[in-house]
Amino acid sequence: MNKVVLASSNSHKLKELQAMLSEFDFELLSLSDVGLAGLDIPEDGDTFEANSLQKAKVVAGLTGYPAIADDSGLMVDHLNGAPGVYSARYAGEPKSDKANNAKLIESLRGVPESGRTAKFVTVITLFVKEDQILTARGEVEGQILSEERGSGGFGYDPLFYVESLDKTFAELSGDEKNAISHRGRAILKLRSLLAEDHNFAVKHED
Ligand code: IMP
Repeated sequence: MNKVVLASSNSHKLKELQAMLSEFDFELLSLSDVGLAGLDIPEDGDTFEANSLQKAKVVAGLTGYPAIADDSGLMVDHLNGAPGVYSARYAGEPKSDKANNAKLIESLRGVPESGRTAKFVTVITLFVKEDQILTARGEVEGQILSEERGSGGFGYDPLFYVESLDKTFAELSGDEKNAISHRGRAILKLRSLLAEDHNFAVKHED
């Protein structure tokens, strides 16, 4: 079976991807499986695409295996797409979800409901070689509340409200969030790109 490395040290992300890509004939390895635990790859691109490509390319270069990487963030319309690729460190170093959320609330103080639209974005890149790169983008739209609601999830989840569910991401179960989230949608997209690509065989049980 072919090996593919996930450019992340997050074991939750590995399990989630493994489960969703199980029909394909490759084995997903973590950074620790290839002796690169804790590898810190600079994310200095201007776009989610650039950052995820950079991470996947570095790991493919170091290991000789194809690599998958992702990059995500929140884009708020009133803030011209900020915090965007700076989402993790919106309120500066050291990175803190609490400080980021406080800064976001402050940045939108006084902005009426209609002007508080936002989206979460994830881009996943599978880098095999320069002329064989798959890029999958997933987005979900919502609104930024003026105060936090809910205790699940992480990051900006307590401020990200989805009108059709009348809930924030922090009020959803893990499965409910995965079903509609930017990350879930990007993984689905990657799955369909893989299914269309003749270089990636679907597993045959024998
Ligand atoms: P990463 O690229 O997946 O590490 O995400 C970068 C940053 O974007 C995180 O540190 C969070 O601040 C924010 N973010 C990404 N996805 C989510 C999400 O599903 N909920 C809340 N915040 C998120």
